[in-house]
Amino acid sequence: MEKSATKRRIVLVPLPLHGHITPMMQLGRVLNLKGFSITVAQVESNQVSSWQHSSGFEFFTIPKSVSLFQDEALEPVEYLIRLNKTNEAGFKDCITQLLIQGGNDIACIIYDEFMYFSGAAATELKLPSLIFSTQTAIHKVCCYVISKLNPKKFLIDMQDPELQNKLVENLHPLSYKDLPTAGFGPLERLIELIREIVNKRTASAVIINTVTCLESSSLTRLQQEISIPVYPLGPLHISASSSGPNLLEEDMSCIEWLNKQKPRSVIYISLGSMVQMETKEVLEMAWGLCSSNQPFLWVIRPGSIAGFEWIESLPKEVIRMVSEKGYVVKWAPQIEVLGHPSVGGFWSHCGWNSILESIAEGVPMICRPFQGEQKLNAKYIVSGWSVGIHLEGEVERGEVERAVKRLIVDEEGAGMRERALGLKEKVKASTRSGGSSYNALDELVTHLST
Ligand code: UDP
Repeated sequence: MEKSATKRRIVLVPLPLHGHITPMMQLGRVLNLKGFSITVAQVESNQVSSWQHSSGFEFFTIPKSVSLFQDEALEPVEYLIRLNKTNEAGFKDCITQLLIQGGNDIACIIYDEFMYFSGAAATELKLPSLIFSTQTAIHKVCCYVISKLNPKKFLIDMQDPELQNKLVENLHPLSYKDLPTAGFGPLERLIELIREIVNKRTASAVIINTVTCLESSSLTRLQQEISIPVYPLGPLHISASSSGPNLLEEDMSCIEWLNKQKPRSVIYISLGSMVQMETKEVLEMAWGLCSSNQPFLWVIRPGSIAGFEWIESLPKEVIRMVSEKGYVVKWAPQIEVLGHPSVGGFWSHCGWNSILESIAEGVPMICRPFQGEQKLNAKYIVSGWSVGIHLEGEVERGEVERAVKRLIVDEEGAGMRERALGLKEKVKASTRSGGSSYNALDELVTHLST
């Protein structure tokens, strides 16, 4: 019997971080448009409140969660392991209650790959489950490679500079130093976490926010590794026809400022929702941007300068210079900004949502990644798709100035823009009728309905 007749409720379990919640909610919206009703499970520290008022989804809160900011010293890997340990029992209780109240109408649980406690609960409750990855296919393939490594040996091997540059078997062109291991905490604990992430338990498929035209060979490799269907649906912000409500209030005044700039002259700078920088680095950025003589729109998120609320650590003359030559906001309507004709380039920390949004608007990038998977993403932008340049090492004003000129003014940047525009067309086509993401969505709906 078709499940569609009775079971149309999908329970989503997002990881409570902005870059994960947004694509999960976009997935919810896409499935909602296909006739499923959506219930979202949130941990107490969750940040979905902006969605609660506008999405038409139902929400429940899992009791006894840890708060991300409860212990400032908690490294990401420890936070994630703890988050999973403390939520499984509460989640199971909540789902049991839902089953009692809703007359057994749950079609499946779709959980962020980092929220693997939901997979364990689904297995125990004998409910269908699917895994959602908000990262790239190559990131997931790397997770499989890392999960098979001996942590102690890997730790010793990584001290050896020769191994760092050695290509990882079957992962050309990636070398060991490209594996997304930096910035999360102790390697042994990270491998422990990754083993949980790649454990598919009883999940019947993987949904991934990527596009076949960007990651064809990695998707093939992932499919071989994972042996359950993989549905690449990205970019979800296009299929959902909206980015959805935002985490912080968007400062729309920057659009008026952009309206006054010359076509493709502006460099847009945003380092996502998590990155923190030292004042020294921010100062080098400020000097470099100002001496490039290109207009710039700079998102400086509150709390993104370590130890300060906002920009009060910057000297007054620097703040004056920056506001004369550019425009600073606390949070921007990023998709609208990237689609604005005045924007010629995007200085990004290489979070995957930002990259998809940039490619979808044909905007080339300056890549300044901070941790593991961002470095991997940067490698693909620069060497794989040739739509960006790398800003490596310590931030230095001269390097910043050169990078901006290379991207916005030089022939080199024009070539990257042309390639980015080519990718834009392919990516957009993939979400239209007959395109790869469009078809993958249809297949997913069939999968969920039978
Ligand atoms: N974003 C935004 N306004 C800003 C900066 C970022 O709306 O001023 C959004 C951006 O569109 C993207 C998300 O925040 O969807 C950042 O996600 P990403 O994966 O790039 O990085 P993360 O925040 O997870 O590090």
